[in-house]
Amino acid sequence: MSSPHETPSGPAAPPPVRDREDIDPRGKKRDRSWPPAPEPLPFPVIDNHCHLDFADGDQQLSVHDHIARAADSGVDAQITIGSDLEAVRWTAALLASEDCPDSLRGGVAVHPNEAALHARGYDHEGRALPGLDEAISEIFALLRGPGMIVVGESGLDWFRTSRQDEQARAAQIDSFRAHIALAKELELPLQIHDRDAHRDVLEVLEADGAPERTIFHCFSGDAEFARECVDRGWFLSFAGTVTFKNASDLRGALAEVGLDQVMVETDAPFLTPAPYRGRPNSSYLIPHTMATIAEVTGTDLEQACRTIRATTQDVYRWPEVVAA
Ligand SMILES: [Zn+2]
Ligand SMILES: [Zn+2]
Repeated sequence: MSSPHETPSGPAAPPPVRDREDIDPRGKKRDRSWPPAPEPLPFPVIDNHCHLDFADGDQQLSVHDHIARAADSGVDAQITIGSDLEAVRWTAALLASEDCPDSLRGGVAVHPNEAALHARGYDHEGRALPGLDEAISEIFALLRGPGMIVVGESGLDWFRTSRQDEQARAAQIDSFRAHIALAKELELPLQIHDRDAHRDVLEVLEADGAPERTIFHCFSGDAEFARECVDRGWFLSFAGTVTFKNASDLRGALAEVGLDQVMVETDAPFLTPAPYRGRPNSSYLIPHTMATIAEVTGTDLEQACRTIRATTQDVYRWPEVVAA
């Protein structure tokens, strides 16, 4: 398929494109200081979902700063995800740039909340947006560029976009189905964003047939849903949410399925693990999440890291990153 969209390329990794909000969803001013570096992991893992296009924190970190800090914590590779058109283009440009770090890969998709906006034709500021089909064809073209190893994040979000908004709901489902087809055509794994939409996500995947490698990013279901996903051969990626005090259902889900089909991520700059919830997040904070994962599954920390790393390399067919 030919496309008018060229993969952008540039000599240097671009700086982050946007600032994260200063106010948290409860209307409180956030503490924007970077949490201290944790004890490094005994064996390195891969952060399979973060958003390096976001700037956050009282001190501006470049892509290379994030990667250097992560390496010091035992996180030696990352997958950065672009989830609106601006971030998608930024991610493609970063991966095509000459000084893109070797340990970085990426993925792009139209995020379900963005799908609703493309269908409507304008963003939150009232600026015109291309239609959903046009946005998806740009995604398709950019996924063929250097360093792209996953389609994501796509899925359904009934938290930010109301299930009652018929047009938005239909746009999300159309977009999700298009991304499922795209992952299959490109033979890439699919990262799913599922917020308050477990049953509907399952239904769409069952109806269309899930890609061979399907990952629930920031898994948020309970033990029963986790079992249903794992039994279908899908993978669950746990973020800092698993460390939250009120997340006993999520820890129950992890305890139910064990480590075999599990991965770890930050979703940075969001979802900072306890005890630093609300502060900026970056891959170097994964040791907090790994500690909880090891504890909940009753696994020695080093063994948990080894298992998760092997799964991640296998799922993304990324053998060349060899842990030291
Ligand atoms: Zn997400
Ligand atoms: Zn995300």
